[in-house]
Amino acid sequence: MVVTRFAPSPNGPLHLGHAYSAIVAHDLARASGGLFLLRIEDIDGARSRPELAEEFREDLAWLGLSWEEVPAQSSRVDEYEVAAATLAAMGLLYPCKCTRAEIAAAATRTGPDGPVYPCTCKADLPRPDEAVAWRLDVAAAMARCGPLTWHDELAGEQQARPDLAGDVVLVRKDAETPASYHLAVTLDDAADGITLVTRGADLFAATHIHRLLQELLGLTVPRWHHHALLLDEEGRKLAKRRNSPSLADRRMAGEDGAALAQQLRMGQMPGGITLSQSLDIAP
Ligand code: GLU
Repeated sequence: MVVTRFAPSPNGPLHLGHAYSAIVAHDLARASGGLFLLRIEDIDGARSRPELAEEFREDLAWLGLSWEEVPAQSSRVDEYEVAAATLAAMGLLYPCKCTRAEIAAAATRTGPDGPVYPCTCKADLPRPDEAVAWRLDVAAAMARCGPLTWHDELAGEQQARPDLAGDVVLVRKDAETPASYHLAVTLDDAADGITLVTRGADLFAATHIHRLLQELLGLTVPRWHHHALLLDEEGRKLAKRRNSPSLADRRMAGEDGAALAQQLRMGQMPGGITLSQSLDIAP
C-alpha cells in the first residue's frame, strides 16, 4: 500500500506544475488503495503566506482530488531541533556565518541547491554573538554511513551522491524558522509514514542528501517517484513569476478543474506547455 504526499510551500499560488504533481501522487496512492496526504510546508520565514493554505485546499478539491491532511511543518519545529541536536552530538554539524553573496563569490562549482559552499569558514569559529547557520559535514557523514543507495520508480536504483550538493545547511540563521528544507522534509516524510516520496524531477538531486540524513537519524527509507516537469515554451520550469496562470485564477474564471485534471493525466498539456523528458532543466 502506497502512502504518498503533496507538500506545497505557501510562498505563492499553485500553478499547473503543482496540479500535475498532486494528480500524479493522488493517482499513485489510489491505484494501490493507499493514502494521499497533504502537508503544508510553511517554514519559509518571511516568504510563507499562511492564507494560501486554504487556497491550496480549494484548488485540490476543484481538481477533483481527495486527501488527508497531516500537520504543517510549523507545528514540528521542536522535532527538527531534536534531530539537529542529535547530529551535532555526533560531531557532524559546524557553524557557518557566510552570506549567500560571499558563497556565490567564492564557489567553484554549482550543485543542486545552487553555488556549492566552498567551506571557506569551516575552521573559523564565530563570535558568540554572531548569527550562524549549521552545516552538515557531508564527508564525515558519508564516512560514517558507507555507500548508500536509493530507488526511484522511474529512474531505477541510484548510488547516493550527497557530496554533489556540498555541506548543505540543516539549521538556518533565521531564528524563527531554523530548520532547512532538507532536514524538515526528511523528518516529516518519516513521521507521516510516507512509503513513496512523489515530487518533481527538479528535486531529484536533493534526494541524495535526504538518503544520507535518513541513515544518520535511523529513519525508514521510502521509495521515490520523481516525475517529469511541466515546461514553458522556452523549456523552463513553469513558475508564477513567468505569468503562467495560477490554479486559483483558472478556478475563479470558471474553468472545469476535473476536466483539466483529466487532460493532465492523459498528457494533454495546455497551449505551449510540454513535459520534460530529462533531468536537464533550464533554470
Ligand atoms: N515544499 C516543496 C515545494 O513546494 C516540495 C517538497 C517536496 O516535495 O519534497 O517545492
